[in-house]
Amino acid sequence: LPVVAIIGQPNVGKSTLFNRIINERVAIVEDKPGVTRDRNYARASWMGHQFSIIDTGGITWENSTIDEEIRAQAEIAIEEADVIVMIADASKGVTDLDERIARLLYRSKKPVLLGINKADNPEQRADIYDFYSLGLGEPIPVSGAHGTGLGDLLDKVVENFPPEAENAADDVISFSVIGRPNVGKSSIVNRLLGEDRVIVANEEGTTRDAIDTPFEKDGTKFRVVDTAGIRRRGKVYEKTEKYSVMRAMSALERSDVAVLVLDASTGIREQDKHVAGYAHEAGIGVIIAVNKWDVPKKTSSSGQDFEAVIRDEFAYLDYAPIVFVSAKTGKGIDDLPKLVEKVYENQSQRIQSSVLNDLLLEASRLVPAPMVKGKRLRVYYMTQVKSNPPTFVVFCNDPELMHFSYQRFLINQLRENFDFTGTPIKILPRKRK
Ligand code: GDP
Repeated sequence: LPVVAIIGQPNVGKSTLFNRIINERVAIVEDKPGVTRDRNYARASWMGHQFSIIDTGGITWENSTIDEEIRAQAEIAIEEADVIVMIADASKGVTDLDERIARLLYRSKKPVLLGINKADNPEQRADIYDFYSLGLGEPIPVSGAHGTGLGDLLDKVVENFPPEAENAADDVISFSVIGRPNVGKSSIVNRLLGEDRVIVANEEGTTRDAIDTPFEKDGTKFRVVDTAGIRRRGKVYEKTEKYSVMRAMSALERSDVAVLVLDASTGIREQDKHVAGYAHEAGIGVIIAVNKWDVPKKTSSSGQDFEAVIRDEFAYLDYAPIVFVSAKTGKGIDDLPKLVEKVYENQSQRIQSSVLNDLLLEASRLVPAPMVKGKRLRVYYMTQVKSNPPTFVVFCNDPELMHFSYQRFLINQLRENFDFTGTPIKILPRKRK
């Protein structure tokens, strides 16, 4: 997907605009209970164009000066985005910081659009001509508060998408290899892309191909997302946890499946849990690959022991298959693409409503629907509204009565009857009309 980055000095209204842009879509598909983490990444669409969007300003950088923050934002935007949207504030006029940001953006060869926020009324809209001085072309007046002007801005954004970013072929399975630093992500990717694979030729000069590397294995086309990020080294901010988490999130947005890499030689660390949490929240297929399995173990010596620890620490990833690999010896690496493909198939499947309702009937025979506060839950029927991940709407007398434990029960029934290995499943309780 094309990537759009929003950048700008603090308090110009980036997050408001970001939320405006993603709102509609989120409302359609997401029912995320209890997840209040700030979302700096999201998928959005405009006029049939899908893209992912980053609010670089929404990423918090502790203990950094405003200058460092701006520089980091710009670096992220320049590195990751296909189109950059700089936001300035009509009520403040052109500031020093605006000029500094604009200068950083000049250097990128990326298209940069300039949105002037808080242009809420005609007078303020008249003031925006000053912003021509930033040298970023025509300032586009917008109002995050009222939602005006966003359409014009988004029209320009989608016009600037590079065609190759949009025409990503459908028969390609995208996956990312994520994990904290030094678990062996690069080594795994290098193994995967090793000698005997056909690496599809890069098209000249397209940044997209530099980031995502296509390859073919046994007749199936794959794309490893963010290979450049995995391979490139050295910049200071790359070493920070914040950056690696952010990078992982950006990669996840563009992936069908995530391979979460753990390190057998060190065991599980706090940072592994963060990355795992993001993989789970992305709502895509997940495979857990335990790397460095060649290293003699001091503690939990068998795969079974390690597996038990993983299941315990990452209980929410109970759907993810665990494989033991070694990038060093090559053990298990060759089988990874096949597993990615299997998980992708599982998460893409669609189940007929008639079959689902047989299952529901059988399930209610097994376990009667619970009573909650003196009221019995009645479940009428279930239908799959979406795949990737498989999402099921369950119609009932009162969604409030369908507690997590019952949803869990339905998910287990689904897993017992169909192969959903590797994919999360979502249940959306709805009141029957
Ligand atoms: P990344 O930061 O996750 O991309 O990790 P790297 O791929 O750079 O690997 C970090 C270190 O672990 C390097 O020194 C690798 O040589 C080493 N390494 C990676 N995979 C394996 C493995 O399977 N076995 C062993 N013994 N070492 C490995």
